[in-house]
Amino acid sequence: MSSFVIVGAGECGARAAFALRERGFDGAITLVGTEPLLPYERPPLSKDAIVAGAGPKFVADAARFEAEGIRTIIGVSVAAIDRAGRSVVLSDGSRLPYDKLLLTTGASARELPAAPCSDGRIRVLRSHADASAIRPHMAEGSHIAIIGGGFIGLELAASARKLGASVTLLEGLPRVLTRGVPAEIAEVVCNRHRGAGVDLLCGIKIAAIEERPSEVRITLEDGRVIAANLLIVGIGSAPNVALADAAGLAIDNGIAVDQHLRTSDSDIFAAGDCCSYPLGLYGGRRIRLESWRNAHEQGELAAANMAGAEAPISSVPWFWSDQYDLTLQIAGLAEGAVTTVRRDLSAEAFILFHLAGDGRLLAASGIGPGNAIARDIRLAEMLIAAGRHPDPAALAAPEIKLKQLLAA
Ligand SMILES: Cc1cc2nc3c(=O)[nH]c(=O)nc-3n(C[C@H](O)[C@H](O)[C@H](O)COP(=O)(O)OP(=O)(O)OC[C@H]3O[C@@H](n4cnc5c(N)ncnc54)[C@H](O)[C@@H]3O)c2cc1C
Repeated sequence: MSSFVIVGAGECGARAAFALRERGFDGAITLVGTEPLLPYERPPLSKDAIVAGAGPKFVADAARFEAEGIRTIIGVSVAAIDRAGRSVVLSDGSRLPYDKLLLTTGASARELPAAPCSDGRIRVLRSHADASAIRPHMAEGSHIAIIGGGFIGLELAASARKLGASVTLLEGLPRVLTRGVPAEIAEVVCNRHRGAGVDLLCGIKIAAIEERPSEVRITLEDGRVIAANLLIVGIGSAPNVALADAAGLAIDNGIAVDQHLRTSDSDIFAAGDCCSYPLGLYGGRRIRLESWRNAHEQGELAAANMAGAEAPISSVPWFWSDQYDLTLQIAGLAEGAVTTVRRDLSAEAFILFHLAGDGRLLAASGIGPGNAIARDIRLAEMLIAAGRHPDPAALAAPEIKLKQLLAA
């Protein structure tokens, strides 16, 4: 009987395990994860887990794993891959043989060397344990400092304001959301935060961070001092590649995989936040995505290819973020775009279409309340996947349905 081992019990690993069964794989499947919980979804960690104190949103319960014949080993890490012996060594010293191995080791929150994460007042947010440690500080009367104007920092700022805490958000660059988000959309986000009372400071330089028993003091280069009950560092994350690296697998901004999610060892696959992959739709450009849907879809694709399908990556990158009543969504990659066309869906919702020099639609970024932009972003995604060159005037005209452009 074949034995498949999956390292990393997050969204991607769990999805891969179930997808293997859905494809009829009847060999042994073992899912190994460092965290002491069954796989759970991370997006609620900066949202409901903080605002409502929600418990982990599990991908599936223990009974479902059991029913599918998926063995879960949680609270245990894979310490090494023995490629010659085709087995993995666990942190408890035991060994698991594999015929095929999938690495879904995810990413870890980056820390500031000058102020490493502590068990006290300096925190990062990646796990449910992190969210549980952060939440008690988010009460009314408390002051939260956040370093980093990326998605996680901004979502946490919104959650903190909902709970009545005051928030100072510090961003070193001239604006928030510099990675992949157009300035026009970042400005809407920024205004919404300022309107909600967040003290949002861009272009700042930090001179010192001092953790004291009762507060964290952040001194800026211009002499300003911010005293906070809690400092959350939201400066991005780094792919967990140490295991793959030590095993001699190729690394390139993540575990390097080919279009079938295969690593430099043909029996080892990698998927989700931990891997970088070539995107055929964008000329084979290698990217690494940290996105829930990517983790979900790549789990399924890895399962298919471990089962012998040889199916290439074909999905369009997609990401969403919820802040207050606003939802932001981005489909595709805007880099290389030379024209941007704006489509106003209402006074509060709009989409920007990013077009290449030859008119091909590369990406669409939108923002609006609730699900105001969801449908058009979904259709834009289909236009991107189909390699369409839509008429810019039609994109700009909300009365012309994007569905029509798809059919044209
Ligand atoms: C706070 C937060 C909010 C987010 N919000 C959004 C959002 O709104 N929209 C969106 O699209 N995406 C969002 N994301 C991103 C999304 O959650 C991730 O892209 C997704 O979780 C990646 O799944 P993964 O399975 O690849 O990795 P992970 O979820 O990181 O899971 C990897 C697992 O592998 C384990 N592991 C690592 N090394 C080993 C080892 N050696 N042995 C055993 N286990 C190991 C880790 O402990 C971890 O449990 C958010 C992420 C965070 C942290």
